[in-house]
Amino acid sequence: MRLDRIELVRCQLCGRAGGDSPALDGLMWSCPECGFVWTARQAPPPEELYDEDYFATGGYDDYFRAQPRRFEAARRLRWLLSVVRPTVLLEAGCAGGYFLEAAHRAGLTASGIEISEAASRFARDHLHMPVRTGHFETIAPTLTADTICAFHVLEHVEDPRAFLHTAHTTLTPGGWLALEVPNIASAAARRLGTAWPGLQPRYHRWHFTPTTLTQLLHQSGFDVIRQDTVFSRFYWRPAARLRHARDLLIADVAASGSPRVTHPQLGDLLRIIARRDDRSMS
Ligand SMILES: [Zn+2]
Repeated sequence: MRLDRIELVRCQLCGRAGGDSPALDGLMWSCPECGFVWTARQAPPPEELYDEDYFATGGYDDYFRAQPRRFEAARRLRWLLSVVRPTVLLEAGCAGGYFLEAAHRAGLTASGIEISEAASRFARDHLHMPVRTGHFETIAPTLTADTICAFHVLEHVEDPRAFLHTAHTTLTPGGWLALEVPNIASAAARRLGTAWPGLQPRYHRWHFTPTTLTQLLHQSGFDVIRQDTVFSRFYWRPAARLRHARDLLIADVAASGSPRVTHPQLGDLLRIIARRDDRSMS
């Protein structure tokens, strides 16, 4: 029993075992060695979690609404293209397919892998995007890509190391990996504690900071080329931004000391563009 318990609290990032460091009312574990944070309770398998309800309820009610998704997709693509010129792009966890649609419209060859049957069907039937249904770790190795994108995926997967290993082996030498995840080192996460919307303990197993995600990427054979954070309002269309301004803008501006929507560390969402490092790999 004791051994099981020690195994249970082994840090996935630095390997430290046996430390008890519950955080955020016991919802999370926080490694006292490296600061990595993860959800204490074991989640159900992804097949059970990401059913139609996931995309229809619990804050995802607008998941398939075109306007906000297209706005978000356009911003993500602009960010990606500011660093990378993709030839063959693969998106892990492409949900309803709006980012793929934006990529296609920009003339890129792009396809997706999505675990949710409902979301991948929407992407195929309504947006006519090439999307395979299933696990990225199973399907991606049968494909090849010079750019892999995963927006709000890594915090959901059962094993982030296995996910990054798959990305590494699927990419061509020197290929690019673009990630976006909630930032638990954000001003809002610190301010709101268990009320922080990025926490979502039912769905989010892993919580990254600029430091811990960079460390995990290095361990997985990637060089970080670009890293910043954006505040949630970055993805809101101007009308929504105005509606929420009083709630968040004032607190975020006070925390970051600036009205900018990007910040090196304090924004709600952490963005990283990394490159497959072939020097350290055999
Ligand atoms: Zn650790």
